Amino acid sequence: MDLRSEIQKAIRNVPDFPKPGIQFKDITPIFESPELSKEIVGEFFRLFHDEEIHAIVGIESRGFLFGLPLAMELGIPFFLIRKKGKLPADTVSYKYDLEYGSTEMEIHKGSIKPGMKVLVHDDLLATGGTAAAAAELIKMEGGKVAGFSFLVELKQLKGRDRLSTYEQPIVSLQSYD
Ligand code: AMP
Repeated sequence: MDLRSEIQKAIRNVPDFPKPGIQFKDITPIFESPELSKEIVGEFFRLFHDEEIHAIVGIESRGFLFGLPLAMELGIPFFLIRKKGKLPADTVSYKYDLEYGSTEMEIHKGSIKPGMKVLVHDDLLATGGTAAAAAELIKMEGGKVAGFSFLVELKQLKGRDRLSTYEQPIVSLQSYD
């Protein structure tokens, strides 16, 4: 079975979570298989090891799961982007709109050095608002966006269009129409 099919088989579709109408893509069964987890990190490594990337930012919380191992494989730093109030030291924050209301994401101030080319990593691309907020945080710190990587993409929500103004590539290992 190819990797795409293995990922699809492992992802659990949970209807109406966290609210009615949402088909939640639960990636946690992937971690029951160390082999599949390693294959995923290996695939991301193959896709990005020739790119000029100086660091990875992972988005809370599922973006940490493959973001850190990938950064370790690439031999580059990993920085956490978290919801407001979770990071302990000085932060910079970026507020953005959700379907209902707004939210704020933060990164530790000074972790990204000016000119650093930074890859944004998360488990899933939906509307692209979260990944765009991560890209804005990178820019606020003087870094440059090196591209985006996701395990899963929900194509209908057109996240790619939302991210089109940033540096490419936008990579997803598995997508749903
Ligand atoms: P968005 O900002 O709309 O691209 O949403 C992406 C963020 O929300 C990611 O951090 C995902 O983990 C989470 N997310 C959005 N929709 C889903 C979904 N259907 N299943 C699992 N996670 C989702």
